[in-house]
Amino acid sequence: MPDHMTDRAELRGDCERCFGLCCVALPFAASADFAIDKPAGTPCPNLRGDHRCGIHAELRTKGFNGCTVYDCFGAGQKVSQITFGGRDRRTGPPEDARRMVEVFPVVRQLHELLWYLTEALTLPAARPIHADLGRALERTEALTRQTPEELGALDVGAHRQEVNVLLLKTSELARAGIRGKKKNRRGADLMGARLKGADLRGANLRGAYFIAADLTGADLRGADLVGADLRDADLTDADLTDAFFLTQPQLNTARGSAGTRLPRSVTRPVHWTARL
Ligand code: SF4
Repeated sequence: MPDHMTDRAELRGDCERCFGLCCVALPFAASADFAIDKPAGTPCPNLRGDHRCGIHAELRTKGFNGCTVYDCFGAGQKVSQITFGGRDRRTGPPEDARRMVEVFPVVRQLHELLWYLTEALTLPAARPIHADLGRALERTEALTRQTPEELGALDVGAHRQEVNVLLLKTSELARAGIRGKKKNRRGADLMGARLKGADLRGANLRGAYFIAADLTGADLRGADLVGADLRDADLTDADLTDAFFLTQPQLNTARGSAGTRLPRSVTRPVHWTARL
């Protein structure tokens, strides 16, 4: 398998190689996360001429928390440099600018799937299906390299479903190796729940809602966290060692501490320990 398919550095946003696509393509509504309303396809007023954010160092104090937790999984540089061959969205044909906005969310979804698939391939317990995972990875990577027109017509939801079958199998295999009774909280509404010190080892937490939940000191080792909503959840001193399918944007929305133990696939959010 080519290295670029398993290089997770390519699955993180690199603003240096992007034309500020997330700051143009995505809509946001005035809320606790964004200070203003902005429709999809309209450049954010804070976006500078060099495609960088004019308030990068002050995003939180200026009411743009949502920008600090976002990551495109490397879709920005892929669309800017590969799909559109490095053609600047402002100086190229207007049709290119429109297409970039259209395909960016599609490629972001595909890159998110690449993130999950590359992680699945690192899990020894998933070895029985590594060949299937490898094929899904190659297929997904190939889809990201399609033309703008092909990407615009892609049924990305259908592809997600196909990949999800493999991710479910991966989860079963990985969690089977963890001793004890494993909880199934798939899609559970645990908003504001008091789960301090809870034993969630090897739990199925797919798509669970932990918004503002107290998970301080909780044991989440080996848990499946795909799509779990961790906004404002308190992970102070929680143990997420070997938890899997946790993404950086997902983690960035939570609270935590220097004592939170994390899987190797993610990094400790700066705002957990920085004084703002
Ligand atoms: S505030 Fe900055 S990071 Fe957020 S959308 Fe605007 S330009 Fe981009």
